[in-house]
Amino acid sequence: DEGLQKTKSNFFDKITKAVAGKSTVDEEVLDNLEEALMTADVGVDTTIEIIERIEQRVARDKYVGTGELNRILQEEIEAMLVDSTDNAHKDFSVPKKPYIILVVGVNGVGKTTTIGKLAYNYKKAGNNVILGAADTFRAAAVDQLTIWSERVDVPIVKQAMGSDPASVAFDTVQSAVAKDVDVAIIDTAGRLHNKVHLMEELSKIKRVMKKVIPDAPHEVLLVLDGSTGQNALEQAKQFMQATEVTALAITKLDGTAKGGVVLSITNQLKIPVKFIGVGEKMDDLLIFDKHEFVDTLFS
Ligand code: GDP
Repeated sequence: DEGLQKTKSNFFDKITKAVAGKSTVDEEVLDNLEEALMTADVGVDTTIEIIERIEQRVARDKYVGTGELNRILQEEIEAMLVDSTDNAHKDFSVPKKPYIILVVGVNGVGKTTTIGKLAYNYKKAGNNVILGAADTFRAAAVDQLTIWSERVDVPIVKQAMGSDPASVAFDTVQSAVAKDVDVAIIDTAGRLHNKVHLMEELSKIKRVMKKVIPDAPHEVLLVLDGSTGQNALEQAKQFMQATEVTALAITKLDGTAKGGVVLSITNQLKIPVKFIGVGEKMDDLLIFDKHEFVDTLFS
């Protein structure tokens, strides 16, 4: 895909350089490959795992030519990555109604934009959508979400600045039931520096939702900024201590060469990446597919 161009050329160039002038995959090629993966933001742990897999492959097959390395790398990386087992998001259908998506993540990562894009896609697929502005901490967050609700033409539930986020979440879910809505997407505040507060706020939001729909939220989507590379992985780990996350969206993969971080995120967190953001517009959201993603990196 266009949006992954920078990551793709970064990855491909580095791997091509790693094998330059070599015919077989030997120690030196593996060393170069290790360095290439590290500088492509794949991260230490995932890089080591990939190198180990290649080493095992070389030991098993005795002779591995550098010409085959791309294919083998692709196979091993794909085998390593987790994929989502439920595929409803792939065509923006809803597994149950109303389907409640709670969106979490640190401010600035592209949370509001991702919610706007999701609303657009769910609506386009024929669903009635409602948004909930439960980030009542920042006036700008409510304003931005309101702009998206107008742009996509879906209703939004909001309250005065500083009101209880759980109360907004409750209203949104209740309204979703009353209006027979298909999917409710709820924004939350992301103040990671105050982890205890964040934890309490998110658990309260979840608790009040369950008063209306016992198994809500059906999805807790963590939004991460892919352009921050390995920092996105660290941020995710911290966030996962604050709440249970069921899926990931990785934004801003256009304009960055650090998309290699997607490999370490999927490999290490064992939570499926469902969406990737490749721009600021409503149709700049891609469904993540590990095969397609790895294929893009190597083609
Ligand atoms: P929030 O604070 O997490 O809600 O972040 P916003 O949704 O307001 O996004 C912060 C900035 O990142 C805005 O300028 C967005 O237009 C931009 N942004 C969000 N997603 C993407 C993306 O996938 N690609 C690019 N290039 N920019 C994005």
